[in-house]
Parts: sequence; C-alpha cells; structure tokens
Amino acid sequence: MRSFAKSDKLSHVLYDVRGPVVDAAAEMEENGMKILKLNIGNPATFGFTAPEEVIFDMRDAIVNSQGYSESRGIFSARKAIMQYAQIKNISNVGMKDVYTGNGASELIQLAMNALLNNGDEILIPAPDYPLWTACANLAGGKAVHYLLDEESDWYPDLADMESKITARTKALVVINPNNPTGANYPVDILKGIVEIARRHELIIFSDEIYDRLVMDDEKHVSIASLAPDLFCVTFSGLSKSHMVCGFRVGWMILSGNKNVARDYIAGINMLSNMRLCSNVPGQSIIQTALGGYQSVNEYIVPGGRVYEQRNYIYDALNSIPGISAKKPKAAFYIFPKIDTERYQITNDSQFALDCLKATRILFVPGSGFNWPKPDHFRIVYLPQVAVLEEAMEKFAKFLATYHQ
Ligand code: PLP
Repeated sequence: MRSFAKSDKLSHVLYDVRGPVVDAAAEMEENGMKILKLNIGNPATFGFTAPEEVIFDMRDAIVNSQGYSESRGIFSARKAIMQYAQIKNISNVGMKDVYTGNGASELIQLAMNALLNNGDEILIPAPDYPLWTACANLAGGKAVHYLLDEESDWYPDLADMESKITARTKALVVINPNNPTGANYPVDILKGIVEIARRHELIIFSDEIYDRLVMDDEKHVSIASLAPDLFCVTFSGLSKSHMVCGFRVGWMILSGNKNVARDYIAGINMLSNMRLCSNVPGQSIIQTALGGYQSVNEYIVPGGRVYEQRNYIYDALNSIPGISAKKPKAAFYIFPKIDTERYQITNDSQFALDCLKATRILFVPGSGFNWPKPDHFRIVYLPQVAVLEEAMEKFAKFLATYHQ
C-alpha cells in the first residue's frame, strides 16, 4: 500500500501520550472504567491550580492580545525572561536572544529542525524525555543516547557521554532537573559536561522546565551559567512551575558565544518567523509569573503537596519486594527499578499493560523513555497521598502474584 506519511520517523513512540498501553487505557475508559493516570505530568488533573494573580492578569490582558506579536514574543515577556536569565547567571543574553513558544515543546522541535542535517548526531540522555529523541530523529538527525547512572543518583555518565561523540556530533542535550528520574545535577557534574562540550566544540541544549521544583534545599544551577565561552540554548516555561500546562507558555534563551552559531541562529529566526508568534495571551502572564511571590515554593517544602507525595511514593515503592527507587530531588516523577528476574519480566510494555488491566493504574514503561532494558517504569506522583496510598496497595497486591 502507498504510504502518505513523511517517513517511518513519524512512528516514533511518545509513550506518555500515545502507544499501546495508553491506547488500552483509553479503550477501558470508553467502556466506563476509571483509570488512575500516573502517566503524564499534568498538574491540573490532580487539583493543582494556577496562582490567582496569573489568571487575573491573563483575563485582563486578553482584550489586547488579539493580534500577532513580534515573532520572538512581546516586550514584557522577553524582558522578564531576560532578567530571569540574569538571576540564573546566564551570560550574554539580550532581548533578541529570547524566544517565546507554545510550550517548550514547540521550541525544542524548532531548535532541532534548525540544527540537524541528515545523519547529524546529537547526544541525548537515556532515559530521556522522549520528545527530544523524536524531534532530533524527525528533523533528520540521529539521536545517540548517553547513559544516566542510577548508581550515581541518576547523574550523567560522563565517560559514556564522551565515548559516544563522533565527527558528526553537533550538540548535547541535558535535561536538568530530569524527567523521568527526578535528579537535580550538582555543579561538578555540570562542569564535567561543559568540559566535554568545550573539548569537542558542541552546542549545549539544556531543558530546565523543572528548575523551580527542586526540593531538599538543593539549588538548581543552569549549565549555561558555567559555559559563557560556549553557545548554549536553555529551555523553560510555565507549564510545571505555575501549573498551567494548558496555556502553552514556554521559552528558549540563547547565551554565551553566539558568534560560533551565527548561521544556526539565522535558521532559528527563520523558523520562528515562519510560525509567526506564540500565543499572545500566554505571553501576557510571563512577567507576572516570573516576578514576585512564587507560590510553587509552598509545594516543595515539608508539609507541601509535592514534597509529601514524593516522600510517600519513595517509601511505598521501596517497601515492595523487588522494587527499588532513588529518591527524586526535583520535578514530580520517580523512576523505579523492578527486579526482572524475580518477576520474569522481559517486556516492560507488557508489564505496564498487565498492571493496567489488573489495577486500572496507568504508568509508562522505561522503554518509553528510550531506556535500553525492560527493568524500569515511571510514576507521576502528582495525586494526593490518599490516592497514591490506594494505588500502591493495589500495585503491591498485583505484584505479589505477577510473573510474565
Ligand atoms: N521538557 C520536559 C523535560 C518535560 O517533562 C516537558 C513536559 O512534560 C516538556 C519539556 C514540555 O513542556 P511544555 O508544556 O512547556 O511544552
């Protein structure tokens, strides 16, 4: 049969939003079953709401948000993002270096499209947030995965990263804080990555969408702040810190040595112009959101929802025989390991599917994050502790008799 699709690259699976397990869950829902969706990081689904001031200001601004804006975004939004870059010590960021997007997702795709010729390689972590791999491959490039090391709190394995660089490698991607592992990288690891990028003249892409959701008194450091002599592109947005995924507000910041990337920046500008602009009502709340009181801080300290839910899920998972998990320090994900010998698991999608059918709990198998073995899965711990308790009880009961 004739194919009308662009190429098989479009079939790359984004397991958190599509794929066999998500499809099965959708079918179960259509048949009237209630599914607990621990598969997607959408705070609004679990009762988190945007700060009131953000909603108020968007309402106020909407009348004046009807036209296209400058392609990169409105002045107040870019100014606020530029100042945010200053606070994070990211150097050499002017107003022209800030681009707003319909979520960070749009800009990740744009950045990959402008970068990769057929066969160009880019280093992406495994496990990853799979949009990165999908966008790199779809752009015509080749995603080459470097390992995050569970034994070292899921920090990048720098030796593995460097060993995967070839003459065709153009860039490396850092996701910090990390989805799916919840790790927040220390400065020495970030410096090690910068050293590798410097030695091999690579662009650094850093996805920092969870940088305002860091717990346990840890600080988030932007890798771009450690690499003023390199060209860096940093991504963030309001989806997670301000609980407004649906508003689609993200941004991208170019920093450091822009001279080495003039042709690339010209390509970015062309693609940014082609999409005209990002949604203007969304841009209108960026200044309000980034300035002043940050209500997200209430969630990530003792007594706060994200903090307490993290503690609960960490203890609950580790008390199940054959399950072990590192304690996440940031975001709202945990990436536990399952003893595949004990449960005779050879296919992690099958494991997620079997669990879904038995418990009506939906989670994403590790292979959905380009993890090479069938021994991990990701849980989104956004639901209230009482809901998580019920889920973990069912999960433990399911595993007590499970074998593949
Ligand atoms: N980057 C990471 C690491 C994410 O986890 C997500 C969403 O889950 C995104 C980017 C996409 O964010 P946005 O809603 O801004 O498109």
